[in-house]
Amino acid sequence: MATRRQFLNKTLGLTAASFIGAPLVGLAPARAAQQDGGLAPPPDIFDAQALDLEFWVKPRTITVTRPQSGEKASVLYWKDGEVIESAYQQLCHLLRDVNGKETAPIDPKLLETLWGAQAFVARYGIESPVEILSGYRTPASNQRLREQGIPAARQSLHMEGKAADVRIANLNEEVLGGLVKSFRQGGVGFYYRGGPRGGWIHADTGLKRTWKG
Ligand SMILES: [Zn+2]
Repeated sequence: MATRRQFLNKTLGLTAASFIGAPLVGLAPARAAQQDGGLAPPPDIFDAQALDLEFWVKPRTITVTRPQSGEKASVLYWKDGEVIESAYQQLCHLLRDVNGKETAPIDPKLLETLWGAQAFVARYGIESPVEILSGYRTPASNQRLREQGIPAARQSLHMEGKAADVRIANLNEEVLGGLVKSFRQGGVGFYYRGGPRGGWIHADTGLKRTWKG
């Protein structure tokens, strides 16, 4: 019986590595050691439009980390068709401007996309938190990033609580960005970077568009 790692390497690694030149998915050794005979093979391209109704009606728990502040939380924020207010507030706090020390309302649609991406890949054994590199930004924080030469738009949707820069361990930016895009909730920026931690993606709930940064 194939391990999950062999499984993913075979199906995802080979198909996509050939055209982007990097492994798409790698699993942590702990998970790779597990056996799971009942796992369905992952599709070549993750597509949220293929999700069934069952996926969307189940209670939603999102696990997020803020590498910058060291916070981590697993939050049940949606149940029976409604956002749970206290949990929503907790997520707004987690997605706050860590530099500017300010919290703002985060678009629930953005939370849905981030949760959706995480829940989708969890079906294939990739159970990593969503790392929030940047969530809400005060105008001053956004301006500071621009001055430091860090990619940040002048009219950034981060300042409206409608954007987040994220990554999920073991998913490269091409796969994560493609998946987030397939939710059709807004814009997706692909930020390709080398190094062990790789790049990140920007997800927002503005106009549907993609770019590379
Ligand atoms: Zn961004």
